[in-house]
Amino acid sequence: MISPKTELRLDEYMRLSNAYYYAHRNPFGASGDFYTSPELCQAFGELIGLWAYQVWETQIKESVTIVELGPGRGTLLSDFWRATQNYWCPTQIQFSLLESSPSLTQIQQKMLSNLPNCHWTSDIQKTIPSDRPFILIANEFLDALPIRQFHENGTKEIWVKKNEQTWIPFLQEAGDRKSNDHPILECNEEAEALIKFLCAKLKNQKGIVLLIDYGYVENKGGDSLQAIRNHQFVPPFSFPGEADLTAHVNFYALSLLAQKQNCFVHGPILQAAFLNRLGFSERIQFLSQKAKNPHSFLRSARCLVDPTAMGALFKVMAISSFHNELPGFAP
Ligand code: SAH
Repeated sequence: MISPKTELRLDEYMRLSNAYYYAHRNPFGASGDFYTSPELCQAFGELIGLWAYQVWETQIKESVTIVELGPGRGTLLSDFWRATQNYWCPTQIQFSLLESSPSLTQIQQKMLSNLPNCHWTSDIQKTIPSDRPFILIANEFLDALPIRQFHENGTKEIWVKKNEQTWIPFLQEAGDRKSNDHPILECNEEAEALIKFLCAKLKNQKGIVLLIDYGYVENKGGDSLQAIRNHQFVPPFSFPGEADLTAHVNFYALSLLAQKQNCFVHGPILQAAFLNRLGFSERIQFLSQKAKNPHSFLRSARCLVDPTAMGALFKVMAISSFHNELPGFAP
C-alpha cells in the first residue's frame, strides 16, 4: 500500500489498504484469505437467483437490470444464472456489475462470459441505468467500505501513523464530534452515502436492494474493525494492503436511514432464517447426493445457516420502492 502521507484518518487508511488489497490479491478460497457464502456453497447464488426471479415475476414483469456490487470472483451470479436462465427472457434482462479491482474484473469477465448483456463499471453513479427497474444484490460489500471510529464518547477519533512497514493507531481530537452514548462508536459514511444514493434511485424507479453482510441490528457501539489474512485474524494495522480490512455493518443505522428516505425496509433478519425460508436445507440435501464427498459438502454448506457460524452473524436486509412483502422475509 502506497501513501504519500505519514498520518491518515482511519477511513482513509482503510480505503487505501483495501483498494490495494483487492487490486493485488485474489482473496477468496483455500489459497486466499477467506471464504464467502457463494464460495462455500453453490445453493447460495442459486437461491438468490430464484428469489430475484420470484420478485421480478410478482412485482416487476418488465425489462430489468440485475446489479451486483463487489462481485468477487463472480460466483454468485454464475450460480444465479445457471439456476434461472431458462426462466428469464434474455432480451428482458441485463446485468450491471460494480467492481473497483481491475484484476477481479478480469476474473469476473471470464466466469460470467455466458451472461447476456453484462456490463462492468467502477463508478457507482453509472451502475444503475435509469430507464428500467432494477434488482440489486450486495453480499459482503458494505463490510469492506471504510469506517471512522470515535472514542471517549465521540470526542476523539482513531488515526494511524506510519512506522516503517506498519502503521500505529493513535487518538486525535475529533474534528466533527459525534455525540453518542457509547464509549466507542463506528461510523460508515460511505455505506450511508450509498444507501442515500440507492434510496434516491428507488424513489424514481421501481427496484429492490438486497444487502447481505455480517453486522448488528441493535443500536450498539464497540470496536468491530478486523483484518483477515490466510484465514487468520491479524492486527488491523500490521499488513497494510495485504490483509482484508473490514468492519461489522450497522444495519440499525442503515435501516433507519432508508426509512427516513421513505423507502420500504424488510428485515434485517438472520441469514439462516432467510436461506431456510427459500428452501436451503432441501436444496443442499439434493445437491449432496451428487457431491463427490457428501459429508464435506454438507459441512461447508451448513456453515451458512449454522447459528454458531454464518447463520446468525450474517444479516439480510432489503430496501424496496414498493410496500409488498418479499419472499424470504415473511415468517
Ligand atoms: N460479493 C463477493 C465478494 C465480496 S469481497 C462474494 O460474496 O464472494 C468485496 C468485493 O467488493 C470485491 O470484489 C472487491 O474488489 C469489491 N470492492 C470493495 N470495495 C469496493 C469499492 N469501493 N467499489 C467497488 N468495488 C469494491
